[in-house]
Amino acid sequence: MASNLTERLSRLIKTMRGQTRISEDNVQDMLREVRMALLEADVALPVVRDFIARVKEKALGAEVVGSLTPGQVLVSIVQKELAATMGEGVADLNLATQPPAVVLMAGLQGAGKTTTTAKLAKHLVEKRRKKVLTVSADVYRPAAIEQLKTVTGQAGAEWFPSDGTQKPRDIAAAAYEYARKHYFDVLLVDTAGRLAIDEALMAEIKELHGVLKPIETLFVVDAMQGQDAINTAKAFSEALPLTGVVLTKLDGDSRGGAALSVRQITGAPIKFAGVSEKIDGLEVFDADRHAGRVLG
Ligand code: GDP
Repeated sequence: MASNLTERLSRLIKTMRGQTRISEDNVQDMLREVRMALLEADVALPVVRDFIARVKEKALGAEVVGSLTPGQVLVSIVQKELAATMGEGVADLNLATQPPAVVLMAGLQGAGKTTTTAKLAKHLVEKRRKKVLTVSADVYRPAAIEQLKTVTGQAGAEWFPSDGTQKPRDIAAAAYEYARKHYFDVLLVDTAGRLAIDEALMAEIKELHGVLKPIETLFVVDAMQGQDAINTAKAFSEALPLTGVVLTKLDGDSRGGAALSVRQITGAPIKFAGVSEKIDGLEVFDADRHAGRVLG
């Protein structure tokens, strides 16, 4: 079995025991181990490269003081950089606006948008005592609209009807008007996804963003997508001002590297993690805890 970052680093500390200073040579050894561990955790290659470059710069400038050994200093640089990249603590949804606060859900088909919309609705109803309306702007898949209706019912929220003959922007405007008139606190807007990034999809979601002016634009991404997650993350973060990420299917991913990749590429905090198919399978994402998971 592959060894995790903590194991690799502690082994390295041992081999560096006799050394008294940080040199280009021992930094190289350490960086090799860090690189292997991150790749094994399924962190995307360009993200690994950037990470290594930052650690190297800090390590070569670091002084070894007091009772610390060069190995210990290097390990602490790696840990700090990991925490800084992942973000710190937790970041819940920002709803600080005149109601209804609009949350736009973006992502590829199958990423878990509809499931996550319902999970979020439940979270907001139960944990934050909000009156929540959901709507689907997925006019290409009537089944997706029906799916949202069903899961919204399970979440204890209200669902706004839409159908395949309407334009997504008209659906959005009608749902917003209904939410405003009926004093909803939050409007969650589920959108169409495709199997891959395409121009029409991006143009449509940009238009929705323009109409709705959401306070939260969440990028929903499947943690199991691994290396592919970064291309998707890049495309969505270039098209939309993302305010947060929901990392789904974390229950099936033991390596945890996608979080680091997506965080780095989008620059947006990971706000929630999907941890099961069930409607209560959503957790507020804890970056510190997750950094510990990547470290092993
Ligand atoms: P959408 O096309 O983006 O709306 O994706 P769906 O919400 O329909 O989800 C696609 C599949 O992923 C469904 O089978 C969901 O049950 C499943 N799914 C979504 N989130 C999670 C999660 O956090 N964990 C697991 N195990 N499955 C999930």
